Amino acid sequence: MKFSQSDANALMEITSRPELMFVRGSGSWLEDNNGKRYLDFIQGWAVNCLGHCPEPVVKALNQQGATLINPSPAFYNKPSIELAQRLTGASCFDRIFFANSGAEANEGAIKLARKWGQLNRKGAYKIITFDHSFHGRTLATMSASGKPGWGTIFAPQVDGFPKADLNDLDSVRALIDDQTVAVMLEPVQGEGGVIPATAEFLRELRRLTQERGLLLIVDEVQTGMGRSGKLFAYQHAGIEPDIMTLGKGIGAGVPLAALCAREAVSCFKHGDQGGTYNGNPLMTAVGVAVFDALTAPGFMESVNARAEQLSRGLNELSAKWGMKGERGQGLLRALVMDRDDGTAIVDAARDAAPEGMLLNSPRPNLLRFMPALNVTADEVAQMLQRLDAVIAKLRG
Ligand code: PMP
Repeated sequence: MKFSQSDANALMEITSRPELMFVRGSGSWLEDNNGKRYLDFIQGWAVNCLGHCPEPVVKALNQQGATLINPSPAFYNKPSIELAQRLTGASCFDRIFFANSGAEANEGAIKLARKWGQLNRKGAYKIITFDHSFHGRTLATMSASGKPGWGTIFAPQVDGFPKADLNDLDSVRALIDDQTVAVMLEPVQGEGGVIPATAEFLRELRRLTQERGLLLIVDEVQTGMGRSGKLFAYQHAGIEPDIMTLGKGIGAGVPLAALCAREAVSCFKHGDQGGTYNGNPLMTAVGVAVFDALTAPGFMESVNARAEQLSRGLNELSAKWGMKGERGQGLLRALVMDRDDGTAIVDAARDAAPEGMLLNSPRPNLLRFMPALNVTADEVAQMLQRLDAVIAKLRG
């Protein structure tokens, strides 16, 4: 099937590759409109934690779709209660508020912190965030994000998000004033280039925010639901944040996200937050199926085994090609290169024949890997081998 930009003129432009369209997927593999197969190490930007069209998700969609899709956001439904119970049971949080995207969950976190500030901190509203952070594309979450120069075309930005440096407690301390209500961060900055906050920094930040009466918000839209090698990345540091947001993996590809809060900060009243689709049983039934797959015996052990394999293989590639090593947590990893040829490698890997491969380069000298959490050992080995071949071809 041929396809070009003019066929897609009814859509807002979202891609620099208008001739490429995917028509089906299964596990770690995608197929395009010409029947070419691709090994997928992006997985919809870390969204498809169980790969493409996983059986538990398809089954939940079919069963729930034939039972009850959206009675009304004004009433409870069984799948959303079940998913909320599972999430509170597995975390330090007591209340769950479902959303449709990571950005919307983060908007909810910002609103919750601001309301808590009005009730408890004389109207304090500033939330300290970090350089190179990414929290979404709504106006408030763009303003909260620390992507350089970002969002200025939509000026004025939403006020009250001073930026600190990741892993530098003094830079946080210097920004705290009477109007500060919270500190918000990604345990591993994903879009910023796979930069982990150290466990020590997270622990110091928890201590500092507690001492100063501030909330700690973790944005686990990318790191949550098993991607880091634990169900939630904050658990690696042994801390208990006040608020957490989830997205991406929680729905394994369907629009589902969550705002999770401890009882003491759960100050939303009826009507403060929500929307037509929030917590609808079709999405939360998928969430239940995903949660049960991620917490099945042995699942996280295999995530960690694949993460170790990937890390080892990337280190070997780095040594072979004189690169600068690799970093990450669990199955969110990056290869740091000695040159700015990330885009060339991504393009060559995708366009390779007879099969392509999908990778991502969030910075010119960086490749990011976010495979399905149930990726096989053979698929990790194939990716490493193909990547080596692509680099060999480009660098000769
Ligand atoms: N927070 C983080 C850490 C993210 O990585 C993303 C998406 N890349 C978002 C928020 C926004 O999520 P969504 O695209 O679902 O709005």
